[in-house]
Amino acid sequence: MKKITLIEGDGIGPEITQSVKDIFKAANVPIEWEEENAGQVTFEKVGQLIPDTLIASIKKNKVALKGPITTPVGKGFKSVNVQLRQMFELYQNLRPCASQEGLPSKFDNVNLVLFRENTEGLYSGLEFYDERLGISDSIARVTRDGCLNIVRAAFEYAKKFKKSKLTLVHKANILKSAGKLFIDAGNEVAKDYPGIALEDKIIDNMCMQLVMRPEQFEVIVTTNLFGDILSDLCAGLVGGLGIVAGANIGDDVAIFEAVHGTAPDIAGQNKANPTALIKSEILMLNHIGLEDYGLAIDKALVETIKNPAYRTGDLGGKAGTKEFTTYVIENLK
Ligand code: NAD
Repeated sequence: MKKITLIEGDGIGPEITQSVKDIFKAANVPIEWEEENAGQVTFEKVGQLIPDTLIASIKKNKVALKGPITTPVGKGFKSVNVQLRQMFELYQNLRPCASQEGLPSKFDNVNLVLFRENTEGLYSGLEFYDERLGISDSIARVTRDGCLNIVRAAFEYAKKFKKSKLTLVHKANILKSAGKLFIDAGNEVAKDYPGIALEDKIIDNMCMQLVMRPEQFEVIVTTNLFGDILSDLCAGLVGGLGIVAGANIGDDVAIFEAVHGTAPDIAGQNKANPTALIKSEILMLNHIGLEDYGLAIDKALVETIKNPAYRTGDLGGKAGTKEFTTYVIENLK
């Protein structure tokens, strides 16, 4: 049986990972969880934000499912999420965003996948503050290899899923050096994919286009910060952060997690929507070759969401995390 590292994380993390564990059990998914943890609660317990045992577990299992994590602010800690992504070279942040079957929302025709570069740019950790002068520098370091890798991953996805167009998003009119590197990488890699059209858009225009006509986009590839912001924007097009999944993928290791954070405003109140983490878990099942289990869980999820009485508060319903999970399990049967 395949072992998967499970990180419950902080805030709503314990509630939504419990939901995933219950659904996996009910669906008889042939995997075994190896439970580790990271983040604020872990730091308070064991004095490490990312314990050595977690690193060893991910190195061994190669696949992890992760709840959201809080990094204590203002104490000089580097983000736990960024550290994990850099440590395991998870250069692809894959975030599918599609209109949710069974859920009325502003758009019923969104079907796009966002590829965000996940280890470079403004998340490189190259930050300096000169207290004497009151000057702060945050360096957005982008490498040619990093650009080529993320663009190729996006093209490979487009080819595999028979997409016709890839949209490369940048700010090359202002960030002339990094923007040019990214566009050049796009043009270079595009030569290997003659059937897929490459277009490029400046980030500000892209935001406007997405909220006006999101149906025109199929695969989007962009740098780290723009990808982070566009992910939440795209989530807003289809029903919010409660339903959008994600995956951090490298050549050796993959960590699956929802787009949303720890949602401290609703943590511990049985209000969190576990759908985003359940969908991340379905991406994980596809990744490890257990697609049939993923399809069954997705079907049960859609049946649950279709019924307004079964929806959680973020989707306009009254169900709690536990009740929602019970409905999904009932629909599995
Ligand atoms: P957030 O995503 O946690 O929450 C934004 C809003 O969406 C809140 O109103 C929240 O209640 C709602 N929301 C999020 N997930 C939901 C769900 N599953 N069900 C229902 N409602 C949901 O963003 P934030 O408030 O900006 O960040 C809170 C913390 O999370 C910060 O410490 C941040 O650093 C961290 N964070 C972690 C990750 C991660 O671990 N990958 C990602 C983003 C933010």
